Amino acid sequence: QAKQAGRNIWRFFDPSMQAVAVRRAMLESDLRQAVRRNELRLHYQVQVDSQDRVTGVEALLRWLHPEYGMVPPGDFITIAEESYLIVSLGDWVLETACRQLAEWTDLPNLAGLSMAVNISPLQFQQPDFVDRLGAILEQTGAPSDLLKLELTENLFMDEPDAVRDTMQRIKALGVRFSLDDFGTGFSSLSYLNRLPLDQLKIDQSFVRPLFEDAANAVICASIIDLGRNLGLEVIAEGVETQAHHDWLARQGCHAFQGYLYGRPVAIDILREKLKEAVCPAES
Ligand code: C2E
Ligand code: MG
Ligand code: MG
Ligand code: MG
Repeated sequence: QAKQAGRNIWRFFDPSMQAVAVRRAMLESDLRQAVRRNELRLHYQVQVDSQDRVTGVEALLRWLHPEYGMVPPGDFITIAEESYLIVSLGDWVLETACRQLAEWTDLPNLAGLSMAVNISPLQFQQPDFVDRLGAILEQTGAPSDLLKLELTENLFMDEPDAVRDTMQRIKALGVRFSLDDFGTGFSSLSYLNRLPLDQLKIDQSFVRPLFEDAANAVICASIIDLGRNLGLEVIAEGVETQAHHDWLARQGCHAFQGYLYGRPVAIDILREKLKEAVCPAES
């Protein structure tokens, strides 16, 4: 009978799904080695203010797979979260980003740039997360007020009070918070004034098709109003055209990030780029 049941299961098992599962398992075991094999990289995407001045960057994780080349985070962050690998990957990201931040505080044209780092809910909920963060800040010497942690709404769904306490302890270190992908989650708005947030980040799914659907413009304008009225800075991600920028700026959006200003790039390219951005009048 067991054999029979087994056959039935296999009869309904789509071979292409099996291929997906195998590939997933292989990626997971490769990912387990990625830190040790030095395959992870951070790329940096600039953020600008309303006068197009670069005020900071977001660190975005890249995986240089020996066989598949550059694997985008969309293809491995979920695997990392489901396997808890995100905790050690996230630790590597935080440490690498803070080391970078500490390094460029000595460079005249880069001093003062903020560094935004994406934090997965699982990573944030580790009991020793605040201690780890404090230790990394101390070891690297990164200025905590230039570090910004990007959190997502799904973090607030499980235990909002515990999350708020942890955020307050992190806030006491001087670190700031941005609420990433704002508008795509399902949590209540009431947490917005109970949590020590500094910035709302409008999700690119509203910004990129801003002029394709009137609803997107209404949503962006409403988020900007909401943020401003709550005393939060508002940044838009996925700003791809000057028309996006101009429209959002007219609505009162404070800061901008997107392909219009540059794609995420390796640190050497960022340095070159910022050299130009800082002294345009000299050439
Ligand atoms: P995110 O945090 O919302 O990051 C923004 C994503 O939008 C980045 O994709 C960036 O390259 C892309 N982007 C920015 N501007 C534009 C634009 O104008 N047009 C278009 N088409 N795309 C734009 P990326 O680097 O592939 O990252 C995807 C997501 O992976 C991130 O979304 C974040 O949720 C996650 N991720 C990346 N790095 C990390 C990390 O170190 N830790 C964690 N936990 N998640 C990360
Ligand atoms: Mg982000
Ligand atoms: Mg985002
Ligand atoms: Mg996003």
